[in-house]
Amino acid sequence: MRPAEPQISDDLAAFIDTAPSPFHAVAEVARRLTGGGYRELHENEAWGGDDVAGGRFIRRGGSIVAWHLSPDRPLRSGVAIVGAHTDSPNLRVKPQPDTGAAGIRQLGVEVYGGALLNSWLDRDLGLSGRIVVDDAGSLREQLVLVDRAVLRVPQLAIHLDREINTNGLQLNAQQHLKPMWSHGEPKAGAFISWLADEAGFDADAVRGWDLMVHDLQPSSRLGADSQWLAAPRIDNLASCHAAVHTLLDVDVEAGRTPLVCLFDHEEVGSNSARGAAGSLLPTVLRRLAAATGEPLEPALARSTCISADGAHATHPNYADRHEPGHHIALNGGPVIKRNSNERYATDAVGQAVAERACRDADVPFQRFVVRTDMACGSTIGPVTAAQLGVTTVDVGIPQLSMHSAREVCGADDPGYFAAFLDAFMRARE
Ligand code: ZN
Repeated sequence: MRPAEPQISDDLAAFIDTAPSPFHAVAEVARRLTGGGYRELHENEAWGGDDVAGGRFIRRGGSIVAWHLSPDRPLRSGVAIVGAHTDSPNLRVKPQPDTGAAGIRQLGVEVYGGALLNSWLDRDLGLSGRIVVDDAGSLREQLVLVDRAVLRVPQLAIHLDREINTNGLQLNAQQHLKPMWSHGEPKAGAFISWLADEAGFDADAVRGWDLMVHDLQPSSRLGADSQWLAAPRIDNLASCHAAVHTLLDVDVEAGRTPLVCLFDHEEVGSNSARGAAGSLLPTVLRRLAAATGEPLEPALARSTCISADGAHATHPNYADRHEPGHHIALNGGPVIKRNSNERYATDAVGQAVAERACRDADVPFQRFVVRTDMACGSTIGPVTAAQLGVTTVDVGIPQLSMHSAREVCGADDPGYFAAFLDAFMRARE
């Protein structure tokens, strides 16, 4: 068995802490790719054969696509695609967010995706995302990051909610999740003008925003032997990180053309201009074929896609919620996910491709299936498979507390996953 490489999970921790929003994740990925010799292309320009050759990437909002085309390994020999998602469930700032009560200014927020609402209580929260400003008549995007404790959603004291430990916590998303951020009566425009001062932009020039809140506690090792990683957004920045780490490291002369596609909006169904169900990946592939003068369909017929997303490890307090014949362990290696009702895209061929890559990489692997009497989650795998018609495999790093503001995974699994992706990208078919 390959020795574990826990230092990869320390780099993952650093990556997660720089990426509180999908926009910041994309900026960090672009920074790492550029540092590795990759060059950014723009969708609003024509691409010739020389433009697309070598390490290249494009961005579309909170999504990014990167590839390495080599003259010795044309597109027609197939594409080894790794897809993942940059977004995570959280609380997002409303268009007119100023509200409040009892002399406290609060922020109106919407719940994004399937968040575990309780996990956002009693945490010191910052703000991140992007704003759009009017810059002398043209609209310009700008990243925003407030990485200090400004917001908090305080939980009601037990003395005022005596039955909470027997009846459970009841949270109304409209009423009970508004973070407090200042004192005084609510005033229209107060929040954005405070943010403008804090983040250094002109409040009068702001025309729109995608802003969200994040937990400020840094990612850290956990457990008696530091064998786990506790962090926000492990679902699915762990997959994004492993994909980019592998792309920057892979032998570009071996295997097929490696391509990494990190999508926004998975947590809300992927159906958007930059989501996995949209045009982004098919458009890029079509443009690569046009630029290199190669037909796309034979290339697709030789392509395979790993849909990389978090997997449920067996929970020690709720082992009965898991399929008893398919135990999933933290630090047990990549989890190959199957579902007969196509909630996951994996079929027998895909499973064989993934298991071969794990064996080639000499890493352990695990097979997941949901209990037959429970509903199954899903991810970008099925939509990617339907869009491209290529064999797609849903594989992920096992974790606990999925969709909590703070999740847990094994410290060895990010390294195992990167080694698995490397073997997948090196395979010739
Ligand atoms: Zn996910």
